[in-house]
Amino acid sequence: SADRERANNVAKIKVVVRKRPLNKKEIAKKEEDIVTIDPTTNSLTVHETKLKVDLTEYVEKNEFVFDAVMGEDVSNDKVYSETVEPIVPIIFQRTKATCFAYGQTGKSFCCVFLLIVLHFLNDLTNYLPPEAGDGSGKTYTMQPLPLKASQDIFTLMHHNYRNEGYQLFASFFEIYGGKVFDLLNDRKKLFMREDGKQQVCIVGLQEHRVSHVETVKELIEKGNATRSTGTTGANEESSRSHAILQLAIKRLVDGNESKPARPIGKLSFIDLAGSERGADTTDNDKQTRMEGAEINKSLLSLKECIRALDNDQGHIPFRGSKLTEVLRDSFVGDSRTVMISCISPNSGSCEHTLNTLRYADRVK
Ligand code: ADP
Ligand code: MG
Repeated sequence: SADRERANNVAKIKVVVRKRPLNKKEIAKKEEDIVTIDPTTNSLTVHETKLKVDLTEYVEKNEFVFDAVMGEDVSNDKVYSETVEPIVPIIFQRTKATCFAYGQTGKSFCCVFLLIVLHFLNDLTNYLPPEAGDGSGKTYTMQPLPLKASQDIFTLMHHNYRNEGYQLFASFFEIYGGKVFDLLNDRKKLFMREDGKQQVCIVGLQEHRVSHVETVKELIEKGNATRSTGTTGANEESSRSHAILQLAIKRLVDGNESKPARPIGKLSFIDLAGSERGADTTDNDKQTRMEGAEINKSLLSLKECIRALDNDQGHIPFRGSKLTEVLRDSFVGDSRTVMISCISPNSGSCEHTLNTLRYADRVK
């Protein structure tokens, strides 16, 4: 059918990069923008020669080509049309798709506060390590995507699939320190189960039936509030967890509302833990070290699973981490993956930017 044909035309793996603009703080510090983008060739260059510090040990190459490169002038709408929009119709064709946001994370309020104090004390900010920068735009990029996707899903349900009994369900959870927490149910700790047929199921995860974009928005806001004010109330935590929002299309059996609807397709949006957090393995704090190791493991494992999927490798190493285990059913068969790598433009983030680009380059 035409739908099938369209599905075949959507790339299995798409890797794009989005660069955010310099922020006020970076401009005040007179930081340089070291990333140039050429949208005509989908290439991107990191000008490490502009750097004051010697990064030779990190730099393997400084020019990269991706499926799309988006600069600071690119709107969220354009990001959506480049990444998720082409996938939405094929979710109705029993496809599972996942969209990841990968990149460096912003520091918590405490650290920013400390930086400001240091700044006024002795202009020490110039000597602080690169991770003192702000986030690379993962959450900014990811947040609007499920809303636009659900809008398009509802439009398709009303126009192309009228009276066919399709329903949309939303769930929102996070993986923190290798454990699963329901963001729509007071951060209740949940466990995973495999059902013999290689299907994973998170036992007790709340799934909300949604019929309006407004409801999806409310659920996302509720989940985000739960995420950042979790048990310790530390904003810091959100940079150490993977937030997973899933939109599942189901279909009523014989149009019968009283029977459980049958799963059709699923679209997952994943705001990954800060990529630099994986390096926290030498921190003095034991908890932080453990979390760093867990994040590192999950990001490495994710990369391996995507590569295996791309090479049509029979064996997908999803057991490498909780993140990939949870996503197991999205790594098999006819699934689609979009990786949005978010980067900061400032010279102070050079090392992280190169790490992010290198990761994305290897996923490709
Ligand atoms: P992360 O989730 O990766 O830590 P955020 O999404 O929170 O980063 O972005 C950090 C800051 O930069 C936020 O204040 C956000 O509004 C801003 N920002 C990020 N990307 C863009 C962009 N493309 N255009 C304008 N502002 C952006
Ligand atoms: Mg964030």
